[in-house]
Amino acid sequence: MKKQPKASHFIDGKYIEDDSGIPIDVVFPATGEVIGRVFAATPAIVERALASAQLAQTHWAGMTGRDRGRVLTRASEMIRERNRELSVLETYDTGKPLQETLVADATSAADALEYFGGMAGSLTGEHIKLGADWVYTVREPLGVCVGIGAWNYPTQIACWKGAPALACGNVMVFKPSERTPLCALLVAEILIEAGLPKGVFNVVQGLGEVGASLVSDPRVAKVSLTGSVPTGRKVYAAAASQMKHVTMELGGKSPLVVFDDADLDNAVSGAINGNFYSSGQVCSNGTRVFVQNSIKEAFLKRLVERVKSAVIGDPLDEATNFGPMISHEQMDIVLGYIDQGVAEGARLLCGGTKLEGDGFFVAPTVFADVTDDMTIAQEEIFGPVMSVLGFETEDEVIARANATEFGLSAGVFTRDLVRGHRVIGQLQAGSCFINSYNDAPVEAPFGGVKSSGVGRENSKEAIKHYSQVKSVFVRMGDVESAF
Ligand code: NDP
Repeated sequence: MKKQPKASHFIDGKYIEDDSGIPIDVVFPATGEVIGRVFAATPAIVERALASAQLAQTHWAGMTGRDRGRVLTRASEMIRERNRELSVLETYDTGKPLQETLVADATSAADALEYFGGMAGSLTGEHIKLGADWVYTVREPLGVCVGIGAWNYPTQIACWKGAPALACGNVMVFKPSERTPLCALLVAEILIEAGLPKGVFNVVQGLGEVGASLVSDPRVAKVSLTGSVPTGRKVYAAAASQMKHVTMELGGKSPLVVFDDADLDNAVSGAINGNFYSSGQVCSNGTRVFVQNSIKEAFLKRLVERVKSAVIGDPLDEATNFGPMISHEQMDIVLGYIDQGVAEGARLLCGGTKLEGDGFFVAPTVFADVTDDMTIAQEEIFGPVMSVLGFETEDEVIARANATEFGLSAGVFTRDLVRGHRVIGQLQAGSCFINSYNDAPVEAPFGGVKSSGVGRENSKEAIKHYSQVKSVFVRMGDVESAF
């Protein structure tokens, strides 16, 4: 098999196999071909991973931040050097075009390792003077952290969770989505080559139940999940029952608002980036594109011209810029939503069909005349389906954009920057854009409000979610007491 990993799990610094677990086929989404097979973690494997992590934590947390940071920085350099190999693997794992993975996946993982590696030596507390007495604070690690990933960014998610966790002195057991088991294993291997002590970053495979068994283990102090809102609710509830820390990076149905003074081509580019990158399998996508009525038809004309120029095909061909869905199942879900859009009266402008062949391709799809009550305007589709909605006034579009349980992202295109800031200020979302869409630099906090999540990844904010503060009162004089 083309991409058979050395073994299913990576525990205590080495690959571990246990074929008594449920077999999971690794499928190349562009062809449907089975390219590898892993086995879900058995309870014994989960136990080994957690025990190894727990054992490694004291030593790792006891190292200086600078020493921890040096390992992460070295890993980031190695990932950059091996970018092509990692990108090809990411393309096999996810089906995303190599043109995309070469610049957005391993590179983003390397950015996170570099950024948090650089920060590890500067994680300090405060000194609070109280007359002659004083308080100092210490930022301490949480302990064993569990990372659970979605399928769309397997390398990036492993590092967006792993890098800040490890920088703070935590250890991690990471469970990738069962659809994309390959990339995190290579990340774990590279971290060990970079000098990470064994047991600090472990990978176990499995379906949701393996994730659930990790979340409910009393040794685990923190759970960071990237996944859908329904899974988030379950994982959050399980973590809450043991008062664990959580980060929840969940789904969205984000608004992208285009005012009539916007640069039309830039706005179209924003809408394309916010709907068709990774074949629409991006949590922060701006799938409700609100366009001011006076420019709506011009916007749609330009949009459809450009969408029709997408190069769809073999994702390993660097000329391809649009690939398949992750799985047959996801393709069917997306096609079901498209049927529903048509049935509920939306105007299909392009796409809407499965493409010929064994791969899981859905053509990039644009609906116009979408209304707020349609299913395609309300539910996260997680596929290449853009809904364009018209609007007249600023107040109206703000109210309609916010009328959703989600709150991950929002974007505004306008040449009037006062309006841009005014509107963004009123949109209920965690990661916002003015005259851009879907940028995710490691320096910027990333995460949602409302049902889209809790906590933030990336930036200095992530440190707060992988550490806790101890405060120490120091009295310099005598202690007074009542008796
Ligand atoms: P799912 O919610 O189906 O799964 C996410 C992960 O959770 C998978 O590894 C899954 O395992 C695991 N899981 C499922 N059930 C449980 C459980 N009870 N306890 C613990 N773990 C469990 O999401 P998808 O993989 O389908 O990914 C798509 C979703 O992820 C979309 O909603 C998308 O918006 C969201 N997402 C959010 C991002 C963000 O940063 N906000 C970024 C990327 C995606 P398995 O799949 O193996 O069953």
